[in-house]
Amino acid sequence: MSCRSKGILLVISGFAGTGKGTLVHELLEKYDNYALSVSATTRSPRPGEVDGVHYFFKSKEEFEEMIHENRLIEYASYVENYYGTPKEYVQQQLENGKDVILEIEIQGALKIKKQFPDTLLLFMVPPSASVLEERLRGRGTETDEVVRKRLHRAVEEAEFIEQYDYLIVNDDLETCVKETHEIIQSQHHRVDQR
Ligand code: 5GP
Repeated sequence: MSCRSKGILLVISGFAGTGKGTLVHELLEKYDNYALSVSATTRSPRPGEVDGVHYFFKSKEEFEEMIHENRLIEYASYVENYYGTPKEYVQQQLENGKDVILEIEIQGALKIKKQFPDTLLLFMVPPSASVLEERLRGRGTETDEVVRKRLHRAVEEAEFIEQYDYLIVNDDLETCVKETHEIIQSQHHRVDQR
């Protein structure tokens, strides 16, 4: 049962390699109230990544055109590349009553929260720092230099975590998915009661 008409905006951030992608995938599989925003980026595709599915892969010039035409809700640069959220799809899905998930980094998340104060900000952390490094290296798709920069960025990001609404510890995936869904549902009740 639901009395809601408009979806809510959800941001899921977290240190690189913490399993945000897997969490989002599970939420989309298990529940039908979610839609995932596909970001634009200037980074190169990793093996297996598909344009329009994982990201819209853009040149720097194309990305800057999107900025100038005001087609992004937010954008940020992260380890030497641009990443941004296209506006149109997000607006449509919210109007359709979907809860729209943005899997984005901290600068973008805080910009979104400023524009849309009802946004729910979730931050995902691994059970420990060594698990973080293990997962990043285990992915095997980045050079040592990029892994190092991403770990460095994780340390820089840590001070902003307190601005998030909830912390999600990715210890056990199934528990993590269930808890995240419950948090989002409770946000609906808050919004609906206004
Ligand atoms: P990756 O290169 O590992 O796919 O993503 C790097 C970082 O960029 C991740 O923290 C990811 O959440 C973030 N990111 C992906 N899309 C966007 C976006 O549209 N905007 C912002 N601000 N960050 C994004």
